[in-house]
Amino acid sequence: MVEISGVPFGDKTVPVVAGPCSIENKDQFLSIATELKELGIPLLRGGLHKLRTKPGSFQGLGEDGYMLAAEVSKNLNFPLITEVTDPRQIEALSKFVAAFQVGTRNMYNYDLLKELGNTKIPVLLKRAFSATYSELLNAAEYVVSNGNSNVILCERGIRTFVTDTRNTFDINAIPFLKNRSHLPVVADPSHGSGETYLVEPVALAALAAGADGLLIETHNDPKNALSDGQQALTVKQLSSFLEKAQGILSVSGRSLAKL
Ligand code: PEP
Ligand code: MN
Repeated sequence: MVEISGVPFGDKTVPVVAGPCSIENKDQFLSIATELKELGIPLLRGGLHKLRTKPGSFQGLGEDGYMLAAEVSKNLNFPLITEVTDPRQIEALSKFVAAFQVGTRNMYNYDLLKELGNTKIPVLLKRAFSATYSELLNAAEYVVSNGNSNVILCERGIRTFVTDTRNTFDINAIPFLKNRSHLPVVADPSHGSGETYLVEPVALAALAAGADGLLIETHNDPKNALSDGQQALTVKQLSSFLEKAQGILSVSGRSLAKL
């Protein structure tokens, strides 16, 4: 079991981490975070450093967004998870984040993983879209063997011959990784599918397969989002999903983690 700000992953209660792909400005982030908090979501996500496929795409607010992110998280008492893309960001981010996300493109960045191993801050480690299970487990070992055992694995979809969807969510990964490792395994059905209408069925399947938590991109205005709007859920859509998620979880004697 790994805890992020007292919220356990790998227990009978299953946390849904939600928030926008990118923190865009104060109004956007505060508005989404406020609604998510009211919904009982226990942990907030929001990207500051975005590694985008195209250099012309929005790259995130970067350091300019740190204060805004810290304020929203503190004022709402809402623990924040954000991606770290460079070891030089660790010190400043660690002042206000509850957990670090390592994105799919950085799973093989062993220098970053070793540095995160020198902290005690939980690490949500995403599977590279090209990684085997062993490669993901070895990447986790870089953090754990350096002294930080607070690692959560995340299946977020892989690249396959199927090009009709952004990624192919690999359902096998969940029971396989849980069988081979003691680390909690969460699912990201947003990047795993790439389309809003696919997020709910994929997320429900992931819970049925035993996922210890979910990471779901949520936006107040998906059409105008600066990144990943096509896969974002509105808070209303998330709320209706949560009811179905509770139904699936009760089959295995589990329940949604609420605030
Ligand atoms: C994200 O969570 O917004 C993200 C960039 O994820 P990934 O690294 O899995 O693409
Ligand atoms: Mn995203």
